This record gives sequence, C-alpha cells and structure tokens, in this order.
Amino acid sequence: MKIAMLARNANLYTHQRLKAAAEERGHELDIINTLRCYMNIASRRPEIYYNGVKLTGYDAVIPRIGASVTFYGTAVLRQFEMMGVYPLNESVAIGRSRDKLRSMQLLARDGIGLPVTTFAHDPKQTDEVLKLAGGAPLVIKLLEGTQGIGVVLADTDRSATSVVEAFRGVKVNILVQEFIKEAGGTDIRALVIGGKVVAAMKRTGAEGDFRSNLHRGGSAKSIKISPEERSTAIRAAKSMGLNVCGVDMLRANHGPVVMEVNSSPGLEGVENATGIDIAGKIIEFLEKKAKLGNTKTKGK
Ligand code: ADP
Ligand code: GLU
Repeated sequence: MKIAMLARNANLYTHQRLKAAAEERGHELDIINTLRCYMNIASRRPEIYYNGVKLTGYDAVIPRIGASVTFYGTAVLRQFEMMGVYPLNESVAIGRSRDKLRSMQLLARDGIGLPVTTFAHDPKQTDEVLKLAGGAPLVIKLLEGTQGIGVVLADTDRSATSVVEAFRGVKVNILVQEFIKEAGGTDIRALVIGGKVVAAMKRTGAEGDFRSNLHRGGSAKSIKISPEERSTAIRAAKSMGLNVCGVDMLRANHGPVVMEVNSSPGLEGVENATGIDIAGKIIEFLEKKAKLGNTKTKGK
C-alpha cells in the first residue's frame, strides 16, 4: 500500500511507530504536513497538492489531526475521501468526536452509560443546570478542552456557581457533570481497532489530582477490563463511527461511564503500559480495509 499520514510533527512517538510498522510490512508511508496541503475543489476532479506536487496513488490516509487544527485538517481529509482514498477514521466521525457535547448526544442516543451531564447557554439558567446535574460536587469542563486543561472540580454549589460565572466571563462553552468520586482519580482507556478492544490501561492521576491525564503527571498500567467495559467501549466507537479510537471510561458504582472518545489516540502510553504492538494492528486493519471508494460517508 501507499499510505499518507496527515500529521504536523513527524517526530512524535506515535507517528514514528506508525511509519515503522507500515514499512516493516512492506508498505510506503509518507508523512504529510496537514497545514501545508492545498486543494483544488474542482467539479468531479478533486485534487490535493503538497509542496508543488499533486498527491496521487494513495490507498489509505491516516489522519493524525491535532485538536487545534480540526477545521483545516478535516477539510484536507475530506478531500482525500472525495478522491476515494480510504481514511483510517472518516472526517465526519472525527468532527463528531471533537465536539464533546455532540459526542455525548450521540452516545446517549445509543444508550451508552454516561455521567449525568447538563449544559445551557443562558447564564440565567446556571442554578437550574447545576441542580439538574445533581448539585455539588460537580465537574465543570471546557467544551474545547484537551489534556485535562479546563476540567475543574467544584466541591460546593457556591464554588460551582463561581466557576461557571468565570468561564462565562471569558465566553467559552462549558458542560457540567456529576463527579464520579468512586473512580478515585483513575480512568480506563480502551483502544478500539475495527470493533475490537486490542488493549486497555488504567491511568491514575498525580497525587491529589482527580484528573488522570498522563500529560498532567498521571501514570499508566495495563489492566484487564470487564465484559461490560469492553462492550461499552466497542459500542461507543461504533456510535461515533470511528474505526480506531481511545475510549475513556470511569468506573462508576452503576457501571462504566464514557467520558470521551478520542479519534487520534496517542500510542506511547498504551504501548509502553501493555507491550502490545498497536501500530502494527492499525496497519493490519488498513491492509484488510483500504480499498478505493470504501468510505462510508465520503464526507457527508
Ligand atoms: P480532557 O479531554 O481534557 O482529557 P476529560 O473530560 O477527559 O478532559 O477529563 C480529564 C480527567 O478528569 C479524566 O481523565 C478523569 O480522570 C477526570 N474526570 C473528568 N470528568 C470526570 C467526572 N465527571 N468525574 C470524575 N472524574 C472526572
Ligand atoms: N452525518 C451526520 C453527522 O454529521 C450523522 C449524524 C449521526 O452521527 O447520526 O454526524
């Protein structure tokens, strides 16, 4: 196969691993800087150019689009889809996953366990929204946050109200969530490829932090997940339409709840914690699926 990987930093662990895994299996993989692609949206003749050269002959495209470049990145990916190139994850599915509210609405529609989550635009509804989420302690999150930045735990209704007001003051969108205390600062990341969980790890936050993000100093360990957790992860991936994703869950008293589905999961933490060759499994998935025009949505 000839594979294009849309990524900005060629040197990241995940990108290097995917390139090596493709080459080990006899494929060619070009790392293409997403933001340097330009497109010709000509009728029935979609084209993408890169450094003056027209990109042709690709069998598959691996999007590794950072959250901050979602808009342009999904447009470039969509252009590949228009050309019939098989995307590891489709642009429409990535768009869903980048909007926390939209993701939760889709997961809720499919009956997947979620923390009680509320949201409103009008500041006059703040008290009601906090009450609807069950009252303090509450977690308040920036809709556009990543890596645990903008995720705040409010212990009392009063502090919850001030946090909401502070976020409103800087005009950012937020959601309010019940605090799953029993998760104890630990979450589960299940790596799903082609409808199967291929690896799972638990992440525990730095001492005293309820957030378990590795970027915030958390640590990761391999774990065996329950059949219910496994099926929750698989259903979440399906509901988002993602072939490859990291499903983040919390162990609540009433079963697993999904917090987030990540469409560009990093491989370093999970490969190191589990010793599983996830990059290889991703390339094997493409070997099975990458056929011209095999995309579900073609960007629709
Ligand atoms: P980000 O997308 O920025 O990583 P998350 O929503 O995943 O934000 O939250 C970061 C971390 O905070 C999670 O990994 C989890 O450990 C903790 N957390 C988030 N929401 C809750 C919640 N409702 N209850 C308990 N802990 C939570
Ligand atoms: N194509 C729609 C979208 O953009 C489908 C909505 C859905 O996921 O059901 O998300």
